[in-house]
Amino acid sequence: MAFKPANNIQDLQYFGEFGGVNPSISDSSTYTFLSAKTMFDTFEGNADGCYLYSRHSTPSNLYLGEALAAMEGTETANVTASGMGAITPVILQLCGSGDHVVSSRTIYGGTYAFLKNFTPRLGIKTTFVDITKLDTVEAAITPNTKILYCESVSNPLLEVADISGLAKLAKKHNLKLVVDNTFSPLSISPKTLGADIIIHSLTKFINGSSDTVAGVICGTQEFINDLRNVNDGACMLLGSTMDSLRAASVLKNLRTLHIRMQQHSKNGLFLAQKFEADGLKTVYPGLPSHPSHELFKSMMNPQYGFGGMLTIDVGSLEKANELMELMQKKNLGYLAVSLGFYKTLFSAPGSSTSSEIPEEEQKEMGLSDGLIRFSIGLDADIERTYQMMKACMQELNIL
Ligand SMILES: *Cc1c(COP(=O)(O)O)cnc(C)c1O
Repeated sequence: MAFKPANNIQDLQYFGEFGGVNPSISDSSTYTFLSAKTMFDTFEGNADGCYLYSRHSTPSNLYLGEALAAMEGTETANVTASGMGAITPVILQLCGSGDHVVSSRTIYGGTYAFLKNFTPRLGIKTTFVDITKLDTVEAAITPNTKILYCESVSNPLLEVADISGLAKLAKKHNLKLVVDNTFSPLSISPKTLGADIIIHSLTKFINGSSDTVAGVICGTQEFINDLRNVNDGACMLLGSTMDSLRAASVLKNLRTLHIRMQQHSKNGLFLAQKFEADGLKTVYPGLPSHPSHELFKSMMNPQYGFGGMLTIDVGSLEKANELMELMQKKNLGYLAVSLGFYKTLFSAPGSSTSSEIPEEEQKEMGLSDGLIRFSIGLDADIERTYQMMKACMQELNIL
């Protein structure tokens, strides 16, 4: 049977404390115990359903976590204060001094900086590889490797990871396959393809209103318990906990994600086809010219499309900047980082979100100066948007 992530979200039923259709928000940092013995048992991890202290877990965080676990098809999940607050504890939980990570080289700038500059201080080394080449990935695995790390659709180059192929390698070499699915919620369900741990920056499409930073780790009950362990759990001890009020608001936004993703994808595909036909260098996984178009198709839940992210290359950073400033002036979107908003957002990743990656390495991975990353908005009239964007490009002699 086909995997139905949005159905799984819808099928969760809530009865709030007073019969509310939304669960009540637990606005407390600490919880009472009727007996001292139960408090002791809870610290030992043996009192299911009891709350201790809100850095460990809260009812509101559990509601959101369960909804996201239902979406991804994992046993459970732990929500965090940011996407980086999800990524860093996962890596630190799975790796210690002497351990090794094999990671895609085209990943979010913050994740890249963490693996490249920060974890070596703790004795954890990373080899960055072209994730689309499974033989290169396998060749990089050493006896000390613990993690295979990738993004299902990579930031900002929109490379697509062969999650089933990577899962086979992970199994063969006894590694954990960790997939950041931020760019393709609902469209791709990494767990059904064999991933062990799925991470999202909820800041982007899932929350969708550019009013918060938040993250989630989806995985087995055992792994999530490990992360929350009071003695050696990276989430518990590093403290990147989500606030309950925020968890309640992200949960409400999550319920419209399927409608929003369909519109982001519809608009993304429309603009990508038009830009490509106009002769612009356009990258979008929904275009047959994308090197991993067929792979994406083989992995996707088709009704959610190829997502809202696309890139064009306008030749130089100068042109890119001019175009973005003009489009913002014409109210076509915002010159801003991040993604998943109702308005289109655009930025030049080489000098912003991927500036952590040294220039030489940017070149090697195909990240050129003139690249503009678009997060296409929910525009009701995308034909008009296209005509107005085209006029901007003509004005600047890009078209
Ligand atoms: C934004 C982003 C992150 C980091 O998330 P924050 O919520 O900003 O901490 C991680 N991965 C990807 C793919 C992202 O786009």
